[in-house]
Amino acid sequence: MSQKIKTTIAGSLPKPAWLAEPEKLWAPWQLSGTTLEQAKTDAMRLAVDDQLRAGITVIGDGEQTRQHFVTTFIESLSGVDFVNRKTVRIRDRYDAAVPVVVDKVTRTKSVFVEDAKKLRALTTGPIKLTLPGPMTMVDTLFDGYYKSREKLAWAFAEILNQEAKELAAVGVDIVQFDEPAFNVFFDEVKDWGVKTLERAAANLGCKSAVHICYGYGIEANVKWKNALVGEWRQYEQVFPLLAKSTIDQVSLECINSRVPMELIAMLKGKDVLVGAIDVANHQIETPEQVANVLRQAAKFADIQHIYGCTNCGMVPLAREVASAKLQALAAGAALFSQELGLN
Ligand code: ZN
Repeated sequence: MSQKIKTTIAGSLPKPAWLAEPEKLWAPWQLSGTTLEQAKTDAMRLAVDDQLRAGITVIGDGEQTRQHFVTTFIESLSGVDFVNRKTVRIRDRYDAAVPVVVDKVTRTKSVFVEDAKKLRALTTGPIKLTLPGPMTMVDTLFDGYYKSREKLAWAFAEILNQEAKELAAVGVDIVQFDEPAFNVFFDEVKDWGVKTLERAAANLGCKSAVHICYGYGIEANVKWKNALVGEWRQYEQVFPLLAKSTIDQVSLECINSRVPMELIAMLKGKDVLVGAIDVANHQIETPEQVANVLRQAAKFADIQHIYGCTNCGMVPLAREVASAKLQALAAGAALFSQELGLN
C-alpha cells in the first residue's frame, strides 16, 4: 500500500515576539549582534518543534532568520546598494523602496547554508529550504546596471544555483524557489522565467520545487485578488511550461481561492503541493476542510504526487493561529489518507 499523504509548509512561520514584532511583514529585529543570532536559532527550533508536533512530513526552518523572503538573500550579494533605495512597482501591484543593482551581482559567501545545517540537526526526516526565484528577485529590485530583466535573471540564476547546490550538499532534501512573479508576467515566464528557474535548479543532487501564489494576505494582494474576474486561471499559463521543465514539485494556492482544481492535471508527473490552508484569515481550518481540498485534488493528480501544503507563507499570522493551522493541515491529510486506506 502507498504511503500516507505527505504535508509541508510553503515557507515562513510567524516569529516569536522577542525576535521580531508579531503579525507584521518585514518586521525589524528586536535584538542585535550575537544575541540576535542566538535568538534566530532558538526561534528556528521552535518553528521546527511546532511542525514536528503537528505531524508535518517535510520540515522547513519557518524562515526565522529572514526579514524578507527576497531581500535577505540579496543582502548577502555584492553589486547591490541597500542604502540608496529606489521606489518601484512590485508585481505590478504596489510600490516599495527597494535595493538598487549598481554592479555585476556576485555571491561572495553562502547565505543560508548555516541555517540548513542547523535545520538538518533538528530532525532526521526530510527538510526543505526556500530561496527566491530569479524572476521574483528581479521584480523586487531596481536594476541600474544590467538594464535588462532577463540578463539580471540569468545572473541571479547562476548565484542561486551555487547556493542551492551547497544546501543540497549539507543534507537539504528539497530546495524550493519562490516565484509569485510567475502569476503576473506571463510573457516573461514563457521567454526566460522557466529557463532561468531551471538554471537555478540544475544538477542539485536533491529535489527542486517552485512556489507560485497570489501573495501573502496583505491588503494590496487581497485587493488584487478581489479584482480578478471569474475563475483564477493564471496558473494555466505557467503549468504547461513547468510540466515540461526539470522542476520536481509545484506549490499552488487552492483553499478559498478561485483557482479551478482541474488545472493541476496539467502537471502530470510532478509533485503537487496543494494549498489547503488559507494564510489570509485567522480562522482555523477543520481537518475535514483540509481533507476536502485534497480530495478535490486527487481527482486530477495521482495520489502519490499530492502533498498537503499552505497557500503561502504564514509569517503575518498570530503564532497560535499558525500553529493550529499546522495541526489542521496534518490532521486533514491523515483523515484523507485513512479514507484511502493509506498507512
Ligand atoms: Zn506565496
